[in-house]
Amino acid sequence: MIDLRSDTITKPTEEMRKAAYEAQVGDDVYGEDPTVNLLEEKAAEILGKEAALFVTSGTQGNQIAVLTHCRPGNEILLEAESHIFYYESGAVAALAGVQTRTIQGVNGVMNPLHIEAAIRGEDQHFPETGLICIENTHNRAGGAVVPSSNMKEIYEVAQRYSVPVHVDGARLFNAAASADCSIKDFTQHCDTVQICLSKGLGAPVGSIIAGSEEFINKARKWRKRLGGGLRQVGIIAAPALIALTKMRERLVEDHVNARFLAESLINYGGLEVVNSVDTNIVVLDISGLKMNATEFVEALKVEGVLGVTFGPTLVRLTTHYDVNRKDIEKAVSVIGGIVKGKRH
Ligand SMILES: *Cc1c(COP(=O)(O)O)cnc(C)c1O
Repeated sequence: MIDLRSDTITKPTEEMRKAAYEAQVGDDVYGEDPTVNLLEEKAAEILGKEAALFVTSGTQGNQIAVLTHCRPGNEILLEAESHIFYYESGAVAALAGVQTRTIQGVNGVMNPLHIEAAIRGEDQHFPETGLICIENTHNRAGGAVVPSSNMKEIYEVAQRYSVPVHVDGARLFNAAASADCSIKDFTQHCDTVQICLSKGLGAPVGSIIAGSEEFINKARKWRKRLGGGLRQVGIIAAPALIALTKMRERLVEDHVNARFLAESLINYGGLEVVNSVDTNIVVLDISGLKMNATEFVEALKVEGVLGVTFGPTLVRLTTHYDVNRKDIEKAVSVIGGIVKGKRH
């Protein structure tokens, strides 16, 4: 199977498995796991923040951030198709008790003026604006990079109104690789950030949240409340450390493969690449074919290629560490075969 469903399906490398086996461990709830401590130290340094916290997943990291920044009854501003709004099972309502106010972006990029207009004033009728969330890269916008200049403008607005900014940077390293800049060029324009180590970077488990020392101390307590205080977790921090320190450079290969995939498909009538393919995600609109997205994904599967539906006529294909150029060529020819038989 050529699995293009997600970059989350990447398996840990040989080196990661060895590192897990050999990891020095201790009880992390006592702060005594040396591998976790090293990972958190390194992550804070790379992300340009005072402190960092190892969490079990991107969702847990985002939720801890919302819980730490906000109080029940707050309103949070976030992009209309952002992961926190769209894909986290309503957790911000269920856990933090905040209400969401969505801002329609363009390719995942929100207009700072729209954000400023949505920040609430003092009137007693209003909820307090507790947090602004930016997603970078933006998943539902097809892995689109939110420019650091846009983040800077939003952060300036936020600071003027004393509202904190959290970045859902599940794939922020992809943004840095695509823009060919340091991740700090992005993270300097936010208070807190969440990074997934288990996507294109290949770790089996884990995310990082980073921010001020004070924020991370409070976040640690929320992690404990959520049952995320783990014991000899160096076993999974060791492969995560390899993901963080050794796998960033190779993300650009995924981007080259995604662009190759997109460019190869442009020649086929009946389907359209609808995203800008900034990073490792290709979104196809197949409305020119005599089938819907579910049927298209089924037809792919029969031929040994996996993708996911992304809307009634949209299909998402994601490149990652465990697929190479040959696999992509095979996927292109499979899609070519399906298109031929199904054009209107
Ligand atoms: C994958 C993803 C998450 C959540 O990460 P999990 O580890 O799957 O919980 C959050 N935000 C974005 C943008 C993502 O793509």
